Amino acid sequence: MIRLDGKPVVEAHQKKLTAWLDTMKNQGLNIQMGILLVGNDRSAQMYLSFMEKKAKQAGLGVVKVQLPETATQKEVEEAIETMNQDDSIYGVLPLMPMPKQIDEAAAIACLRPDKDLDGLTTTNVGLVSSGKGGFAPCTPRACLAILDYYKIPLDGKHVVVVGRSPVVGRPVALMALARNATVTICHSHTTNMKELLLDADVVIAAVGKAHLIDGTMIKPGAVVIDVGINELDGKTVGDVDYESVAQVAWALTPVPGGVGTVTTTMMLEGVYDAYHARNVDSTEHC
Ligand code: NAD
Repeated sequence: MIRLDGKPVVEAHQKKLTAWLDTMKNQGLNIQMGILLVGNDRSAQMYLSFMEKKAKQAGLGVVKVQLPETATQKEVEEAIETMNQDDSIYGVLPLMPMPKQIDEAAAIACLRPDKDLDGLTTTNVGLVSSGKGGFAPCTPRACLAILDYYKIPLDGKHVVVVGRSPVVGRPVALMALARNATVTICHSHTTNMKELLLDADVVIAAVGKAHLIDGTMIKPGAVVIDVGINELDGKTVGDVDYESVAQVAWALTPVPGGVGTVTTTMMLEGVYDAYHARNVDSTEHC
């Protein structure tokens, strides 16, 4: 069984990103990303510190905008608009959740689609859905980056995605479809998930239920990408029961150390894509 570790994927992508940021710096260009934190949500605060650290390591500048728990819709939208207008900010990440008085969807609608690092705007959802490019959310991009790094093609494969959330399941299914996979999506109302999974060449699990998928549900030789991050008996585990699935799968991502490890790098890399979308007529990828 091949363990699809995220670390070498991160290293390969980060090396290219850092080299590019160095070149930009040598040309006197200040490349930055903007992060908006509204309120006191603990997980959003932790994610902000984490992103800042990772951006710094890669050599990317961060413009941090923090608004209080009592912020108004107008203040949030004005903060986004300021980042929209700032030419040194190539991509923006509005952290969720925002306080309850904030209409998150309305706030996101103010974000320039070409700075929308996590593919949140309707424009990018539409572009990704229609296979016409755009910014896809970072976690689905991380899944594909892992498959690419380990040279696992999706063309003609039966990909079964478990979960249909707007940030993971749905976009990753569409991105697999864009790569000519035959795609099945299972969700909480699917009645024959085991039968569908046993026919899958590639399984992408994004549910949020510890060990939902075990080895009896996997076709021998399948590739399994586990997006889930769950707490079980004080440990972080995936949606996939690693031990039993490792007995039958050909390749499997670990949790932790798999998709989650690569997701942040995809966010930072989005800045590279945003720069090129704005400045050059090239679709070359980092
Ligand atoms: P979500 O709750 O928004 O969506 C879960 C999906 O699973 C839903 O579409 C639901 O229909 C489906 N589902 C629920 N129970 C099911 C069942 N018994 N059988 C089949 N489908 C079922 O969750 P999400 O935001 O998509 O996140 C999913 C998991 O991925 C979570 O564990 C989350 O922590 C993790 N996650 C990881 C990363 C990362 O970078 N690795 C990023 C985002 C989310």
